[in-house]
Amino acid sequence: MSLIVQKYGGTSVADLDRIRNVARRVINTKERGDDVVVVVSAMAGETDRLLALAKESAPEPDDREVDVVLATGEQVSSALLSIVLTSMGCKAKSYLGYQIKISTDRAYGKARITSVDADRIFSDLREGLIVVVAGFQGEDEEGNITTLGRGGSDTTAVAIAAALKADICEIFTDVDGVYTTDPNICDGVKKISRISYDEMLEMASMGAKVLQIRSVELAKKAGVPIHVRSSFHENEGTIVCEEDTEMEKALVSGVTYDIGQARVEIAKVPDRPGIAARFFEAISAANIVVDMIIQTSSLEEGYANMAFTISKADFPKALKIAHSLAKELEAQDVIAEQEVAKVSMVGVGMRSHSGVASKMFRALAREGINIKMISTSEIKISCIIDAKYTELAVRSLHEAFDLGKGS
Ligand code: ASP
Ligand code: MG
Repeated sequence: MSLIVQKYGGTSVADLDRIRNVARRVINTKERGDDVVVVVSAMAGETDRLLALAKESAPEPDDREVDVVLATGEQVSSALLSIVLTSMGCKAKSYLGYQIKISTDRAYGKARITSVDADRIFSDLREGLIVVVAGFQGEDEEGNITTLGRGGSDTTAVAIAAALKADICEIFTDVDGVYTTDPNICDGVKKISRISYDEMLEMASMGAKVLQIRSVELAKKAGVPIHVRSSFHENEGTIVCEEDTEMEKALVSGVTYDIGQARVEIAKVPDRPGIAARFFEAISAANIVVDMIIQTSSLEEGYANMAFTISKADFPKALKIAHSLAKELEAQDVIAEQEVAKVSMVGVGMRSHSGVASKMFRALAREGINIKMISTSEIKISCIIDAKYTELAVRSLHEAFDLGKGS
């Protein structure tokens, strides 16, 4: 007998027919002899609808009240599922976040879970109940309702699985699992059967559509294996778990891309100690997260070029800072590019295989794609390229590394 936490996303509980479908799956699991705790998202589109309502009520609605509004989405779906389960002859009970003491900090709209009280769930399970928990919500120290950020039900599920020491956390969604790259832009992609937590985190820009990234961080910390799978059929999906030797055998696991990047370069800054510090202090004081940084010395002695990438949303702010610092530091020029993308190869196999970088650069060169910046980590190599070549780059890398079906 296992203890399983199952999470069903918004599309899986979009209407009563689908909720009945979820109920049947839950009952099947229970009938196999396993204990089940179910976490649900709000019905598809509901969180967007509630958010729009809150914003319509006032141009800048109070964060605390917005969370109270948003949390109702999951209140409805969890109770509906519990009603349907009961009508199908199963004992079930729904709980809101505060009722099972999902404690969080007070960062409304993006609160972090600090603890979960497993006792109440355990005592219900002992009585043979199916426990249904409203995802995405918790309460802070003073009893205020908080929400965990978009996609936060995944994190609720993993936090509960961690607290209960469940055998597995199954995340049921409308895709079959995690793919070697985005199926929307590349043909012949393959479902990855097992992927490590670290790879999944590195694939954040793409993987985030499947799992809230915080849930993966939490799963890694607690050692909870996650099984991402479709709620519409029985096929196995992707297991996200500790790294193993099988994973290491593959050269790379996937290609990811991020078109939400921009690049700023400060050209010909006088090269002296403290320049980079001065520069990035100003950037971080403005709460801008920098992704890549490259400093090169210019051909002319005594000068350096400093280039960095940030998210597109921060571009206007970063550019303003770059211009004012360029003046202060007597740099010659600021070059700004908004239309750039980052393509990356990810794989734990890189730790033990060489040649990934050269193969990647060759594949891009064959397509005539210029690489503007390169960065590497232990399990990832990223290149900044012109955004207009993103799809071409992803497809050719996917092919060059034989990631597709039948390979
Ligand atoms: N309902 C919330 C959202 O749409 C949480 C979730 O679905 O995971 O973001
Ligand atoms: Mg989701």
